[in-house]
Amino acid sequence: MSPARRGYPGNPARIEVDMASHEMVCEAENAHEVLFVCTDDACGRRVVVGKARPGLTVIDRGDFSARHVGSLGGISIEGVDVA
Ligand SMILES: [Zn+2]
Repeated sequence: MSPARRGYPGNPARIEVDMASHEMVCEAENAHEVLFVCTDDACGRRVVVGKARPGLTVIDRGDFSARHVGSLGGISIEGVDVA
């Protein structure tokens, strides 16, 4: 028995994901953390990024297939796929 087939031989790159790119903006911040919110209404991704120590907490996953980028001062987030 062969393992599960993945796609067709002539079509190896089926996952050429046409990834949407969403921008995240700072909505609120305090001394320790910054809340980033996706600007895409249909998405609603929200993450909290730690300032003092690098860390990212996903509050609302939003559109998981989209690439999310955002920045604020010295803090930048990119490709935040941590769930
Ligand atoms: Zn988004």
